[in-house]
Amino acid sequence: MNIGFIGLGNMGAGMANNLLNHCNNSNDKLFVLDLNETVLSDFEARGALNGESASKMCPQCDVLFTSLPSSKEVNLLAFGAEGILNNLKEGAAWFETSTNELSEWEKVRESAPSHLTLVDAPVSGGSEGATAGTLTMFLGIDKEVLKKFETLLKVFSSNLLCMGPSGSGYVTKLVQLHLNYLVAQGIGETLMMGAKANLDLNTLHSVLMNSCSQSYVVENYIPKVLDGSYDKSFTLGLAEKDVKLIVELGHHFGITMPLGEKVFQTYQEAKNLYGEDSPHLSVVRLIEEAHKQKLRNT
Ligand code: NAD
Repeated sequence: MNIGFIGLGNMGAGMANNLLNHCNNSNDKLFVLDLNETVLSDFEARGALNGESASKMCPQCDVLFTSLPSSKEVNLLAFGAEGILNNLKEGAAWFETSTNELSEWEKVRESAPSHLTLVDAPVSGGSEGATAGTLTMFLGIDKEVLKKFETLLKVFSSNLLCMGPSGSGYVTKLVQLHLNYLVAQGIGETLMMGAKANLDLNTLHSVLMNSCSQSYVVENYIPKVLDGSYDKSFTLGLAEKDVKLIVELGHHFGITMPLGEKVFQTYQEAKNLYGEDSPHLSVVRLIEEAHKQKLRNT
């Protein structure tokens, strides 16, 4: 089987690495594409084939994966004479793993030839999960169709969740992210209260981990505020995109989203101040700067 992977960034590189290990131990082949020549050369040196362009790579692929920043890049690659839809091999499947918006994906699906299988398959678990092969994948796919691809998807995902018909994978991802961002927003105020009360912040972290406040965000994000790195594995620009899509989805369902709107405003403010390439937890810098106090390990 020939596998294609487009987008070798924080998430894509980990997923593609696991696919490459699988290919190096089987007769399957991995073709890769990215705008970043350095990462491409690194994959080539380890046995992957440079796809060169979507129009050259897609006719050779039985299964294609994409991990791209947003619907803008997905659409750019999908449409046109040189695009994925016009060039994917007869009967191929495309798993789109980015955090994307349903309405844009519907346009892609409506334009796809009927011999292709297009699946919204966003992932959760961060770049560590992508590297370790332990991602959770939310799929908009029929259970029977999924069976055909399970072995391959398990190369980088330990938890495959069939969420319903096409589109339900993307919707699930945004619903899940809503709570993630609400908790992430709470980190700054919580730590600042502790700091102003002269509590030791490492001890406070341990308290939060062993109380009803415990969560993935508390466990994994707080250390990255306390060490001052703000988590370089995910950018502020992508976080702001997520929160925008979350609020739009809520409004689409007629739900009032006061918390989501407040969070969106904060991420916009942080992006305007620190730039879209800053790490996503730079959002906590807003509260640090407002109170002229860094939240750090003692
Ligand atoms: P990233 O910016 O690190 O990676 C995106 C990659 O796509 C880059 O290497 C870029 O060069 C490449 N790219 C962009 N346009 C391209 C094009 N036209 N052709 C070929 N390559 C192109 O982003 P990421 O953090 O890896 O996130 C990817 C997707 O996964 C996003 O939709 C994000 O929201 C989602 N996501 C990220 C995380 C995370 O923790 N980083 C977790 C879950 C989901």
